[in-house]
Amino acid sequence: MSNEQPKIPQATAKRLPLYYRFLKNLHASGKLRVSSAELSEAVKVDSATIRRDFSYFGALGKKGYGYNVSYLLSFFRKTLDQDEITEVVLVGVGNLGTAFLNYNFMKNNNTQIVMAFDVDEAKVGNEVGGVPVYHLDELEERLNERMTVAILTVPAQVAQPITDRLVRKGIKGILNFTPARLNVPETIRVHHIDLAIELQSLVYFLKNYPAE
Ligand code: ATP
Repeated sequence: MSNEQPKIPQATAKRLPLYYRFLKNLHASGKLRVSSAELSEAVKVDSATIRRDFSYFGALGKKGYGYNVSYLLSFFRKTLDQDEITEVVLVGVGNLGTAFLNYNFMKNNNTQIVMAFDVDEAKVGNEVGGVPVYHLDELEERLNERMTVAILTVPAQVAQPITDRLVRKGIKGILNFTPARLNVPETIRVHHIDLAIELQSLVYFLKNYPAE
């Protein structure tokens, strides 16, 4: 993100990709403006939150007019660095890792998995979803300063030592799909997604807090 961008609260920043994807589709269909109520319905965020979010980046919707789609889009593009491709590496080409490699992230945004690592000789040397799989021993020599994000889909018990190596090589953000809680320096951002816990919590909420 460039320095001229206003500082946006983290909760707002997390919703930006959601807004961005919806607005891109609207723009493609030729729509020039959108109301917070329409947006709210589409992205399932209440309209008061949307109005507050948008106020942070100077998009003040006009009553009876809504928001200018092109203005919002160009803001999001700049803020999310959509004009620049973020190179991502993936470690652990198991079931989950393979699914990510086959999933084309470029469809919706400008992040691209450029290489993957594993220790299984049967996987090393292959391409999965067009992405080369290298041996973990080559991690240090293969990573370069353009690669700032890593996806971790390895067994939990090896997550920490791999994280330490990634951080030493300059990785700034980790999307952690392992159940392991990772220790990282304060400057490194970890987003933890434990699919089993998410599923369990959904089931719990359905049972205990059924929708009206
Ligand atoms: P998933 O958990 O993605 O469903 P899986 O059940 O197929 O995968 P896991 O045992 O969880 O397999 O391992 C995920 C992947 O991580 C495998 O491809 C395995 O070879 C790889 N792996 C295991 N140890 C390491 C390591 N130290 N470094 C890199 N990759 C590893």
